[in-house]
This record gives sequence, C-alpha cells and structure tokens, in this order.
Amino acid sequence: LVVLSDVEKYFGELHVLKNINLSVGRGEVVVVIGPSGSGKSTLCRSINRLETIQSGSITIDGSPLPSEGKELARLRADVGMVFQQFNLFAHKTIVENVTLGPVRVRRKAKTEAHDRAMELLNRVGVGNQADKYPAQLSGGQQQRVAIARALAMDPKVILFDEPTSALDPEMINEVLDVMIKLAEQGMTMIVVTHEMGFARTAANRVVFMADGEILEESDPESFFTDPKSARAKDFLSKIL
Ligand code: ATP
Ligand code: MG
Repeated sequence: LVVLSDVEKYFGELHVLKNINLSVGRGEVVVVIGPSGSGKSTLCRSINRLETIQSGSITIDGSPLPSEGKELARLRADVGMVFQQFNLFAHKTIVENVTLGPVRVRRKAKTEAHDRAMELLNRVGVGNQADKYPAQLSGGQQQRVAIARALAMDPKVILFDEPTSALDPEMINEVLDVMIKLAEQGMTMIVVTHEMGFARTAANRVVFMADGEILEESDPESFFTDPKSARAKDFLSKIL
C-alpha cells in the first residue's frame, strides 16, 4: 500500500533520510522507533508530502505522490496524520473539527458528515464532548478527537507521530487503547512511538532508525529481545 524506494531527503547540507526502503502492506501496523533526530518525523511527513524528498520514490496504492492542488488534498485525506500536538482547530467545536474535512475534501453532505462524525466520536469515547471547544477537553480527549478526525476521511493509512508523548501518564492508555482497537480492525498504520507495550501488542513490524537510516526491521518480539545492531541495543537499554 505504501512503498518507499531509495528515498533521500536533505535539509540543506543535512542528510536526514538515507536510502530508505520500506514497504507497508494493507492492514499492517509498523512501529518506527529510534533516537531523537534520527528522521522519524521527517519520514512520516514525507509520506503525506508535508516534506518533499530529493530523490527516490514514494507511492500509495501504486501511485506517486501528487505535488499540488486537489490531488494533494486528496492524498492528505487518504494518508491521515495524528501529531504529538493535536492540531485541532481551536475556534471550531469538536464535531466541527471532525466534519470539516469530509465536507470540503470528500464532498460529503453536511448531515451525512455530521452523523458519521458522531459515530466516530462515540467510537473513541468522546461523543458527549461534541459541542465543546478543544481547549475544554483533556489532552487524551483531544488526541482521540484527532484520531476521529483522521478516520472521518476514510484514510487508506494513518501516520501517528508520537501521539502520546505530549500526554500526562494517566491519559496515555486511553489513546493507546483506541489505537490498538484500530489496529485490530485492520487499519493500516505507521506509528512513531516509544510505547513498547503498544509495539508488542499491535505491531506487525518494528523499524529502527538512527541517523536517517533504517538499521533494523523485524518482528517486535525479536527486536526487543534480540536487537542486532549496537545502536539498537544501546537505544533499548536507555528506554526499557
Ligand atoms: P524526535 O525523536 O526528536 O522527534 P525525529 O526522529 O522525529 O526526532 P526529525 O524531526 O525527523 O527527527 O529530524 C531529523 C533531522 O532533521 C534532525 O537533525 C532535525 O534537526 C532536522 N530537521 C527536521 N526538520 C527540519 C527543518 N524543517 N529544517 C532543517 N532541519 C530539520
Ligand atoms: Mg519527531
């Protein structure tokens, strides 16, 4: 579904993605981990073209990423993204946040988009917050709204970039539980996270990045119990 081939990305002189080859199949859950600055966010942002790559290719369902216009808006709908900072529209209500994209990009009728938004908000456990504004919700609730907003677009894949790292500890699990459920329901997911519990429960594969390179790619159990590279061993010894 998502295929990256020989991807190279520079910020000026800085080489941040080096010969990245990664293929994520439909229904797969891939967890990306690695030290700060290793290029995990840049990798995610490149997949929905918030960043442009200098060489190599990225395809979704076999099609190269569009660069502008309606096609780009559609790509961003197909490739949902959930950030560390929830990025909800502060001056829109919760349900409006979830309705906006489907109406504008997917051309859904307002009532249909509203019904679907309510269904999704209930699914992530915040249906009773629908008419409030983001600032009136806890971080965990806001992040679940952000997940509902991505789901409302009927995405082919959702990218999560450290979705729980801005949350207070007691709110982490309510977000991870929603993500685990999504994974069980067959959603294709690329998840940057250091939550090893999530990786062990939900991931089909773990990708370890360091200095812009993929150093290891394996099933979670072998990665956590028997990492191959010195960098991964060192990293795991610091976070486990
Ligand atoms: P973290 O775990 O801290 O979130 P990361 O693995 O997500 O790190 P990236 O944010 O992808 O890392 O950054 C990779 C490298 O690219 C870093 O050296 C960072 O400083 C640099 N970088 C990221 N964004 C930009 C930018 N817009 N302009 C210049 N350099 C950037
Ligand atoms: Mg990052």
